[in-house]
Amino acid sequence: MHHRLLFRRYRAAFRLPLVTARGRWREREGLIVRLEDERGRVGWGEAAPIPWFGGESAGEDERACGGLGASLSASAISELPAKFACLKRALSDAVEELESGALVAAPGRESLPVAALLPAGPGAPEAARRRAAEGFACFKWKVGVGDSAGELAILDDLCGELPSCGRLRLDANGAWDRRRAEKWLARCADRPVEYVEQPTAADARGADDLLLGLAGDYPTPIGLDESIAGSESVERWLAAGWKGVYVIKPSLLADPGDSLRKLEAAGASVVFSSALETAVGARSSLRTAFAWKGPPRALGFGVWPLFADPRLDGPTAAPQVRRQDVERLDPDLVWTALS
Ligand code: MG
Repeated sequence: MHHRLLFRRYRAAFRLPLVTARGRWREREGLIVRLEDERGRVGWGEAAPIPWFGGESAGEDERACGGLGASLSASAISELPAKFACLKRALSDAVEELESGALVAAPGRESLPVAALLPAGPGAPEAARRRAAEGFACFKWKVGVGDSAGELAILDDLCGELPSCGRLRLDANGAWDRRRAEKWLARCADRPVEYVEQPTAADARGADDLLLGLAGDYPTPIGLDESIAGSESVERWLAAGWKGVYVIKPSLLADPGDSLRKLEAAGASVVFSSALETAVGARSSLRTAFAWKGPPRALGFGVWPLFADPRLDGPTAAPQVRRQDVERLDPDLVWTALS
């Protein structure tokens, strides 16, 4: 293997700031990698780490990539330290695409349902009404952002806007303490809430035991997101017998295929989710979602249009994403936009 390695670090503003329990997120940082060989074949990858998931930063990815030199050797990816999960993934994707001549299309489904992402706060019910009219059946609302009593009051208005078979996902991004989480989970029990994502923090002392305890005490399933910070955490939660949802952001796993094989063997509930990457990383993550053989659940990819520069966006959020929408994404457009 002797591939020419090019990369571009990016800092891309979101069209609107993303408001979560962690504050306002205004721009995405990451790295696009491009491999070329002497026959003119090209492969693409994206490293888009999320700072609060731990692991590498975009700046560290840039330095590590620069240290690999102008051509990528066969052993370079495996020799990168384990913390560079996103960069390993990006380089592996690029090698796979270049060497196979194209992305390998997974057999099976032609389209998958998508969850509509609702804005935090009091605008959620109105947004849900509009999205329901467009045909969405699954909705995700960020909570833990404002006052808890105020958000609980909005919850019933929001549930009232859901279509008859509609389901709501709540994502607290780890904002609640045990008491708040208990109050919400009790309230959710007789409402159309599909699951509550990361009700309590992933990095507090006793975090795993608290999540396991909450999952055992309330009927509404709990989803792990920030608690899944790499393939080791997938294995840890499988070993703990986690019966709730695994929110998988393929972009954050060095080898998502390996983790997904283990999840599939365990019959785990998996929801694929965007890491708010550009179309380059999204193409790879969505391809991973299409390859999943377990029960299909609405994808957490209802995020586009996302960037101030629409050339960076993946497929515009719609109730279904088709495989052809994914295959049509053009990494070269992103590369040009970042030049
Ligand atoms: Mg989440």
